[in-house]
Amino acid sequence: MQKLYVVGLGPGGREYMTGEARAALEEAELLCGYTVYIDLIRADYPDKEVLATPMTQEIERCRMAVEAAESGKTVAMVCSGDAGVYGMAGLIYETAGENSPVEIVVVPGITAALSGAAVLGAPLIHDFAVISLSDLLTPWETIEKRLRAAGEADFCICLYNPSSKKRADYLKRACGILLESRDPQNACGWVKNIGREGQESRVMTLSELMEEKVDMFTTVFIGNSSTRVMGGKLVTPRGYENKRK
Ligand code: SAH
Repeated sequence: MQKLYVVGLGPGGREYMTGEARAALEEAELLCGYTVYIDLIRADYPDKEVLATPMTQEIERCRMAVEAAESGKTVAMVCSGDAGVYGMAGLIYETAGENSPVEIVVVPGITAALSGAAVLGAPLIHDFAVISLSDLLTPWETIEKRLRAAGEADFCICLYNPSSKKRADYLKRACGILLESRDPQNACGWVKNIGREGQESRVMTLSELMEEKVDMFTTVFIGNSSTRVMGGKLVTPRGYENKRK
């Protein structure tokens, strides 16, 4: 049966890829994906056939990948981070449908929540929620509801898609909702271009985060009420201190 790999590349270049991801890319005859991610790996596979499509063409991209696999090619659809976290894995299954002859293999990768957390220190040590601020596929009311619930439940929160040209003030709106239940001093941070050229990070309070300008290559972290800044790093206690008492 023809294989269609849906591969999470991790945040940046090849050093962040798992061995399984590398093996899938080696085996594939055709590499598909968003232009930016294809560019991250193209140099390593100069002889492979490549199909790079612009960002908003996810449905078309998945259709082409499924069709290529159905026609007999081994295909790898690449995604940044993990293929199943705001990635293409779900849409590939939906596109192939119930009766496809293609075997779909999802290959996990390091998602931005985890690679970004490592840059900032240890903000996600305890329970955390991951929320995307993109309202392209999710109504903004649903996003607000989830932000409010995660804020009230004192989760550490990781925000994906915090901004775009059309959504410049969404991070500010999200911070406003979190401030309904959280202290303005709540420790926060962001990481930009994780594992790529131009990686940058900052640690700040929730009220300061409200005024930050971030772009679409940034992941934002909001600690829980116990998260502290230690030596410039964000650290959420796991609870060992209470155990020793
Ligand atoms: N599948 C990806 C997420 C895709 S959604 C993953 O698992 O990481 C796109 C969002 O992910 C971006 O807006 C940003 O918030 C985050 N992101 C992905 N890669 C990133 C990187 N290298 N640096 C910072 N943020 C990143």
